[in-house]
Amino acid sequence: MNQPIREKFLVFGKPVLEEDEIQEVLDSLRNGWIGTGPKTHRFENDFKAYKNAPHATAVHSCTAALHLSMLVAGLAPGDEVITTAMTFCATVNTILYVGATPVLVDIDPITFNMDPDQIEAKITPRTRAIVPVHYAGYPCDMNRIEALAQKYGLIIIEDCAHAIETEYHGRKAGTFGDFGCFSFYVTKNIVTGEGGMVLAKKAEDAERIKVLALHGMTHDAWKRFGTEGFKQYQVMEVGYKYNMMDIQAALGIHQLKRVEQSWLRRQEIWNTYQEAFRTYPLQLPIVSPPWVRHAYHLYTIQWDEQRIGMPRHHFLDAMKANNIGISVHYLSIPEHPCYIERFGWRVEDFPVTERVSRQTVTLPLSAGLTDQDVADVIGAVTQIIESA
Ligand SMILES: *Cc1c(COP(=O)(O)O)cnc(C)c1O
Repeated sequence: MNQPIREKFLVFGKPVLEEDEIQEVLDSLRNGWIGTGPKTHRFENDFKAYKNAPHATAVHSCTAALHLSMLVAGLAPGDEVITTAMTFCATVNTILYVGATPVLVDIDPITFNMDPDQIEAKITPRTRAIVPVHYAGYPCDMNRIEALAQKYGLIIIEDCAHAIETEYHGRKAGTFGDFGCFSFYVTKNIVTGEGGMVLAKKAEDAERIKVLALHGMTHDAWKRFGTEGFKQYQVMEVGYKYNMMDIQAALGIHQLKRVEQSWLRRQEIWNTYQEAFRTYPLQLPIVSPPWVRHAYHLYTIQWDEQRIGMPRHHFLDAMKANNIGISVHYLSIPEHPCYIERFGWRVEDFPVTERVSRQTVTLPLSAGLTDQDVADVIGAVTQIIESA
């Protein structure tokens, strides 16, 4: 084996945490209010303002956000929910949590988002909702999806785990749907360790999400420990333990303040990759048209083993051997044993998804990458291709 291109392992998706976050967490630890409290409330308000959305509820993950949205949307056994075959398992698992049936759609070969041309064919009298996932941070074709939702009376629940900064024709991801669900997991564009947010269009939906996120107790039960006088909570329905803690919100508040700065840095890295790989036999991410604001969450290259003359797993191994952390987003949904067993899905029925699932590789794209880190990634990728 040759010398690795760098000595120190470049961790994939390493978060950037600064002094402001550290001080804010220390403040929570010192004042003792570490559970759901004023900082969570502030983070909700800041995020709501950032998204220009009517209602926002902080929860402990995007998975929780999706689950609560499905519940509040009234999805239940017998209902069908249409989503993409190329997503993270949580998108499908949360459909299953409420007993509904996921129905998969193949993706567009350029954007890797669910192909709107194929959605309509999957709509049946049982279809109740569509869950678009803005893959890698590139928005789904929401004009088409909204038109279908309107035509068939369907609910839209957006999985915005990749799409914090995403915009489409000037509209912000997460505000198209009846619900928009965000993730602040460690590798995402805003990080709270674990964390999520639900935007809801209707006040009554937002209210019910708040109640269900905290045991089903009367809203703002946490205030009972405040100075406003004793209040007895009541349980309104069987809820969940999905609330965000102030320690998490302490991170989120400052991460959100730097969202634009981090986005600009990722855009710079993105453009450097696009330029560096232009002449290589790789399918690169779509160049955004003017009506799209990409969130630059995942930078993926398509590794075609026929074209390059080397299997993808050799490339993945070689990147690791060069001390560069890479990832695969994703092994497609119809290839996981658990779903195959349950639904008998065959990946061949989703040919574009199948191809991307075999070829895709995600390169590091964190705002914390140095120019040298970026040069190392480019150097490793190009050397490996040239050696093939
Ligand atoms: C990360 C992710 C989720 C789940 O987010 P958590 O906050 O980890 O629950 C859901 N959907 C997609 C597409 C994701 O990438």
